Amino acid sequence: MIADWPGTDRADEIVLVSGHLDSWDLATGANDDGSGVVSAMGVIDTLRQLDFRPRRTIRVVAWMNEENGGRGGLGYTEANRALAGKHVAAYEDDNGSGRPFGVRAGIGLEAAKALAPLRAALAPMGAGAFQREDVVGTGDLHDLEEAGVPTFEPWIDSSDYFNYHHTTADTLDKVDPENLRRHVAVMATTAWFLANTDQAIGRSNVSAETGASKPPGQR
Ligand SMILES: [Zn+2]
Repeated sequence: MIADWPGTDRADEIVLVSGHLDSWDLATGANDDGSGVVSAMGVIDTLRQLDFRPRRTIRVVAWMNEENGGRGGLGYTEANRALAGKHVAAYEDDNGSGRPFGVRAGIGLEAAKALAPLRAALAPMGAGAFQREDVVGTGDLHDLEEAGVPTFEPWIDSSDYFNYHHTTADTLDKVDPENLRRHVAVMATTAWFLANTDQAIGRSNVSAETGASKPPGQR
């Protein structure tokens, strides 16, 4: 599923926000990754309610087949390879619905400095922590990352996530509505910043292939 909230003067440039629609077959996948998909949908819902139009297009993607091969992310990347340079950033929320306390980003050092205003905006919601990586390596963004797209994910308290991850207990009662609102707020704030900034948000020059800290499809 793909939905665009069209940009204004830079509509051909894309900030992608996402989660994955499929789940492990034992449970409903409320946390893996229903909460991520709903958070990404909440980005456009929030910006519409505020009547905020971004300069760049914000694209919501609900990936398919994250759990069993990552063919959704790969298919998207292959179909959009010529447009990879138009993807300013890609964000995926796929670590459960625990409280977010910041963001992690697969970007270069200069780009990390340019995120200072974003961190200041996230701090009042308790999400001002920031970690820069050469490669973030979320399951569905792996191929876009290899194609050179800067990647983001929320930095989450996942201390109880693996108690029920990929079990029959990954059900809606494990999702705290307040934390889910925080996921939307962190993703919407990050997407809004990335969709409007004049700063270049580039990757580090370490390649995704050689610098990968995490293999794809492990979440
Ligand atoms: Zn997942």
